[in-house]
Amino acid sequence: MNQTASVDELIDALSGVLRDFGRYAFDLSRQDARRTEALFDQWAQHVVAGVEAPGGAGKTAGRRDYPGLRRAFTQHRQSEQSEMTQVQDSLREVVWAFVGGLNRLVVDDAADDAKVTATLSQLAFKLGKSSPIEIRSVALEAVAQVQAVFEARRARQQTQMQSLAEKLETLGTQLETARKDSTTDALTHLYNRRAFDEQLSRTVELAALRAGGAALVMIDLDHFKQVNDTYGHPAGDAVLAAVAQTCVRVFKRKGDFVARYGGEELVVLMRDVDERELEALAEKARGAIAELKVPFEKKALRITASLGAAFWKRGESAEAWVKRSDAALYSAKSAGRNRVVTA
Ligand code: GH3
Ligand code: MG
Ligand code: MG
Repeated sequence: MNQTASVDELIDALSGVLRDFGRYAFDLSRQDARRTEALFDQWAQHVVAGVEAPGGAGKTAGRRDYPGLRRAFTQHRQSEQSEMTQVQDSLREVVWAFVGGLNRLVVDDAADDAKVTATLSQLAFKLGKSSPIEIRSVALEAVAQVQAVFEARRARQQTQMQSLAEKLETLGTQLETARKDSTTDALTHLYNRRAFDEQLSRTVELAALRAGGAALVMIDLDHFKQVNDTYGHPAGDAVLAAVAQTCVRVFKRKGDFVARYGGEELVVLMRDVDERELEALAEKARGAIAELKVPFEKKALRITASLGAAFWKRGESAEAWVKRSDAALYSAKSAGRNRVVTA
């Protein structure tokens, strides 16, 4: 039996693909789905019957313009891709704007509650001074009741916020993964500084909404300049890349975010972490880095790192948080390097 497809069969298949591609097109900002369908239908007819190609201006009738078809297909696919990326970007922005809004809501509610509570306490104080004992006790009871109502409302809100924050966090992570390419560092394959800055402010906003500690770990290689000076810059690069991969292996809990902060300094953002776990992981990373033997031109290069860690404190700004981790790192350096200091 002849296994080779005839040219007619190939052309039939190609025109079928073109028709289907058009049929299942979606709306783009510059071209709606029906227009795309019509265009690719015309290409299908061009391929099968030699009718004029889209945009052919009388020159393509009778002969087949395969390069033109290829260009049209590529251009269409490219505009689809760029539009999808834009959609994801704006969706991501909306999500984080929403998180920011929720965050302010919580802060405002707390401030209002505090005001009302203060007013009621004052009222209670006055009633107590100028009225008989009964009135005083009634007033105090009212105050207690109102406070209990507020208390319940706060608990309810907390639960709602927590669950909403978790949903948003998942959505945010999905969208982040989709554009990981533009946010990674070429040498270490870690997230780059820009990605870190974004993640940092989001972590602060989410930490304000949900229970569970958020921690920041700064990791700086010790006497790294000496590696460059002794073995050359490419050797330094190899060491840096190996340390980065070690950190990725150690900080692999859900939501751990490892980035290159700059030069030979890495940074890790963690959520839902307690002091014991943070210290255990930081210590594990320190040990694993100290154990590394990085192969380079038949040598095995060694390195150590100093780590500074800090938990986010309620109300703290991102900058202040980074500053405290940096100060902890500085302490680790001054204390002799190759160690972990927690702020
Ligand atoms: P310390 O223990 O105090 O951190 O000492 P150090 O030598 O690590 O710190 P210093 O800040 O003096 O030097 C950091 C060096 O890291 C200088 C810079 O050339 C080198 N470096 C920064 N980025 C890279 C890189 O991407 N590749 C290489 N090979 N070296 C880098
Ligand atoms: Mg260093
Ligand atoms: Mg440094």
